[in-house]
This record gives sequence, structure tokens and C-alpha cells, in this order.
Amino acid sequence: MKTETNNAPPPARDKLLFTPGPLTTSHSVKAAMLHDAGSWHFEFNAVVDSIRERLLKLGGVSREQGYEVVLLQGSGTFGVEAVFQTCVPNDGKVLVLSNGAYGERMIQMLKHARIAHVALRTGEDAPSDPAALDQALAADPSISHVAAVHCETTTGVLNPIDELGIVTHRHGRTYIVDAMSSFGALPIDFAACHIDFLISSANKCIESVPGFSFVICRRDVLMSSQGIARSLSLDLIAQLTGFEKNGQFRYTPPTHAILAFAQALDELDTEGGPAARNARYTRNHETLVTGMRALGFHPYLKPAVQSCIITSFLFPTDPEFDFNTFYRRLSDHGYLIYPGKISQADTFRIGSIGRIFEADIHALLAAIQQTVNELGILVETPTPLPTREAEANFN
Ligand SMILES: *Cc1c(COP(=O)(O)O)cnc(C)c1O
Repeated sequence: MKTETNNAPPPARDKLLFTPGPLTTSHSVKAAMLHDAGSWHFEFNAVVDSIRERLLKLGGVSREQGYEVVLLQGSGTFGVEAVFQTCVPNDGKVLVLSNGAYGERMIQMLKHARIAHVALRTGEDAPSDPAALDQALAADPSISHVAAVHCETTTGVLNPIDELGIVTHRHGRTYIVDAMSSFGALPIDFAACHIDFLISSANKCIESVPGFSFVICRRDVLMSSQGIARSLSLDLIAQLTGFEKNGQFRYTPPTHAILAFAQALDELDTEGGPAARNARYTRNHETLVTGMRALGFHPYLKPAVQSCIITSFLFPTDPEFDFNTFYRRLSDHGYLIYPGKISQADTFRIGSIGRIFEADIHALLAAIQQTVNELGILVETPTPLPTREAEANFN
């Protein structure tokens, strides 16, 4: 007779996501969603309220200092678009610092909103340039807003949001920072960077599930935008007014994502806050790069401009290398990596964020080694890429 023993197969584990969000979350964050919350109920509203308090604290700012936070349904893109839709007047003009897909997405948003804009581009491997920004702002007084991306997740390049903010502030323009893939891990000093609007979302460094974005902003700057909003659902002032009136989202809130987020904030505290999280991501990243180099892969970016959030690797020069085959093999091993997203080089990306640890990186590296061997890929040194000059593009 067959008896139940304790050597039953382990419970199926999800594949580990080495992606920049959605990412691998803890079991307890997922479990926090196993509830039905009433969207108008006072207990749920109290959770929303505490999340808003905790986000301000996480940002190192307070209402007394003039900051406010607005949660908004939807992914991070909705939060960025909401800032433009709410705050740029009809006669305003936005300068977008772009060195990747997220800067380009901002330009798309502005085109759709028919808001005047200029792009100040650098190569995908080069950080946004404060000196070029200084020149552009001096040359064009009609620019009212400057928008920058902190960690450009397209490559992992880190932009100098402090220097860019100082220049923007000196010229008296409003400063918008997409800190989607950095807030909660990388240090951000709102006052020193002169940030007026910062956007991030639930499913990046806070390590929760997708469902909403949040905007931390200077309340006076937000409120001075009364009457501008071009969109009903993306109107941040109306959204804030809703929270202040009855503690509620204006429209159906992402209830489960809110419950998960409260748990994720607890776990960020338990880990030791953003500094400890930054340290873990840094260890993950360094372990990854050392291991990948040992396997013959080369990071796309120079270490000086590389963040610990996500790393782009150049395709091996072996013409036999096929990303989709490589990806599927790694998936069979239980690891999901990320395709490249840039135009200037063939790359794939590996994220260091989410509920993943050094041991997971070692396991991924072992799977990559095995995959390379199985596929017989020759991994060798590709030729380095030329860096493009910073290019100003006024159109
Ligand atoms: C993830 C991300 C976004 C938002 O993307 P969504 O898919 O809408 O969540 C925006 N900017 C950056 C830098 C990001 O990493």
C-alpha cells in the first residue's frame, strides 16, 4: 500500500523574474491580497491613508515641508502622463531629457496631449547632460517644465537628477522626475534635487504587485495648476481632492494591490529601509556582472554610469546566438530574463531588483552557463561601441 510520506514534491514555485517590474514578490506580499476589501470602507481607507503617510516618509519629506502624495490607478506610465495632463498649462513647454525608451515615452505623451515640447537627447549609454540643459534653458525662456528619468530602465543608466534639478531650479522652471525604477532603493533628496513632481509605482523597488502609481510633489506647485487638467481620470488635483474629502480613490481602487503594498512597505522596513535594499541590489548587481564577465558576456554600459537596478548585456558575437532560444532555455530552468529595448546595440537585460538574493543570482549564472554550453554558443569579446555625442534636438 502506498502511504503518504514527506518526500512529496515541493510546492511549485513561480519562475524567478530577473525583470524590472513586475518582479518577484515575497509570498507574504502575494498572500496579503487574499482578501476582499470594501473600497469605501473605513478600514480600507485607513490603509490608503497610512500608505500615503509612509510614502512621504520614505521620500524623506513631509506635509509640513509642503509636500503631498497622490495615488493613481494604473501602471507607472499613467502617473507620468497624469503629471503632464494636470500641470502643464496650454502655453507651457516641456523639455524632456531622453536617453532611452522612457524618455521617448514622455515625448509620446506630450505629442498626444498636444503640449509643446523639446527633446534633449544623449546616447543610450550616456547620462543626461546638465551643461546642455543649462544652455537649452538659457536659449528658450518659453520652456516651463523639465522632465528627467532617474534610472533609465531601458539600459540601466543612471541620470544625475541632482545636477539637472539644480540647473532647472536656477532657471526657475518646474522639475518632473520619473523615479519609477529607483524610488525606495536609490537615495533621492527632494530638496537638494529641487524636485517638484516625482513619479514612481508599486511594482518596482517597493517590491509589490502592479496596480497603481504615486506622485510625490510640492503641494503649492500642484495646486497652482487648478483648471489646467486635460483629462478627467488623470487629474491629480481632483484625485487629491477625493482623498482629502473622504479618504477614497475617485474611481474603483486597486484594492488588492493596496493591501499588498502595505505589506511590501512593512517588509521594506524590516529589511532596514532603502539603504539596506540598495545594498542588496548592489550585491545582486555586482555578483551578476562578475559572473557574467567570467562567462564571457559584456555589460553594455560603462560601470561609472551603470545603476544597480538592471544591467544590459551585449549579445555574444557568435552568429549562432539567438535570444529567443536562449530565453526559452533559461525559462525551462525557471529563470526569466528580459529582452533588450534599445536601438543602438543588440542587448538583453537582467534585473537585480525584486525579492531576489545573491544565491538566486548564482543559480541564474549556473543556468546561463549550462545554457551556453548546451547551445554551444561561443562567447567572446565584442568590439566596444562608439559613444554618441550629446545631441540637442529642437523640434
Ligand atoms: C517601469 C517604468 C515606467 C512605467 O512603466 P509601466 O509599464 O507603465 O509601469 C516608467 N519609467 C521607468 C523609468 C520605468 O522603469
